[in-house]
Amino acid sequence: MSKVKLQAPATEMLLLLEELAVFSAPGPGVTRLLYTPEWKGAQHFLQEKMAAAGLETRMDGVGNVYGRLPGREAHDKVILTGSHIDTVVHGGKYDGAYGVAAAITALGYLRETCGQPRRTLEAVSFCEEEGSRFPLTFWGSGHVTGHYDGGEAADCADRDGMTLRAAMAACGYPASGAAALREDIGAYVELHIEQGIVLERAAQQIGVVQAIAGQRRYTARVGGAANHAGTTPMGLRRDALAGAAEMLLWLERAAQDAGDPLVATAGRLETYPGTPNVIPGEVRFTLDIRHSEAGMLEQFCQAAAAACGGIARRRGLTFALEETLATAPAPMDRELAERLEQLCSEQGLTHHRMVSGAGHDAQLFAPRCPAAMLFVPSRGGVSHAPEEYSSPEELAAGLNILTALLYELAYL
Ligand SMILES: [Zn+2]
Repeated sequence: MSKVKLQAPATEMLLLLEELAVFSAPGPGVTRLLYTPEWKGAQHFLQEKMAAAGLETRMDGVGNVYGRLPGREAHDKVILTGSHIDTVVHGGKYDGAYGVAAAITALGYLRETCGQPRRTLEAVSFCEEEGSRFPLTFWGSGHVTGHYDGGEAADCADRDGMTLRAAMAACGYPASGAAALREDIGAYVELHIEQGIVLERAAQQIGVVQAIAGQRRYTARVGGAANHAGTTPMGLRRDALAGAAEMLLWLERAAQDAGDPLVATAGRLETYPGTPNVIPGEVRFTLDIRHSEAGMLEQFCQAAAAACGGIARRRGLTFALEETLATAPAPMDRELAERLEQLCSEQGLTHHRMVSGAGHDAQLFAPRCPAAMLFVPSRGGVSHAPEEYSSPEELAAGLNILTALLYELAYL
């Protein structure tokens, strides 16, 4: 295989990221929620940038924007690369945007220096991934992969009571998003910031994602007996909060013992009646458990349920667990991951195999086509905050690996 020296223009990508960050609601950082004026402005701006890069552009029925570089072998399936354009409230300017800016820069550069590819390449800016405005996630890639058909928009509303359907209509999108489904995607590649501290701690330049962790979320309910804090002796109490505390410490220890990449978090805890002079009669807490292997995830969740149940019984409490979310782990394509590692070695970049604890658009594609994901370091591991930062050198390194992989897939 003959190798050409590829050097996509990182300065163009960095400028694009700065320009994109301007499309934001007021306040700290970047706030670009689905179907808002700033979101719409950003998607149209990106469509113009794709056209300026010589790509054939279009926007689909839910607001995903594509830039296409048609290949000679038009019957072959498309190699798709990109990420999402929406942000969390007061987020940073790299989450999602980096993968989109890099995709446009890489395709524009490949077109200019290498001409028409053998296989068709497309850059994509997905309309939504975060779930920041409406209570659902992956609205963009979920339509492309058939996870959504648009019917969900009718009974899903934002904080102001506006339905997703109404928000779409206000933006000029039809009621049904079925037109966004694609059956012609042959591979999906996503470049993203890590949003964690693993690469920085390991002093590695590129993270090669092996799998995106599966997630389980639960609401746990611990029932005891609310009673007078002054008149009820310690030996005669059924304190739901003390029981919940023992459960959470068990979970922390068990998750530590299980080791990486298992993580377990109780992010919200409510105590009833929540009064200083009353023994807590009921506690509800949320549980978020993640692992990259389905079997390990299932095993841990079962062990956690059994342990919490045991603690409750010993303390004379009741315990109930309700599952509120379950996503399967998404393994990335092994061959593409190996190619990424090979490219890192060839370019003299250090790399690290890792699991993504965060969800990404790539997990929607993984069951349908070979999917690959690569990370660059996030300073201090900070993301979903205005302080989110990756250096120009780190961002350029990711762009170079992405460009090299797309070249191999589409030109050789
Ligand atoms: Zn993201």
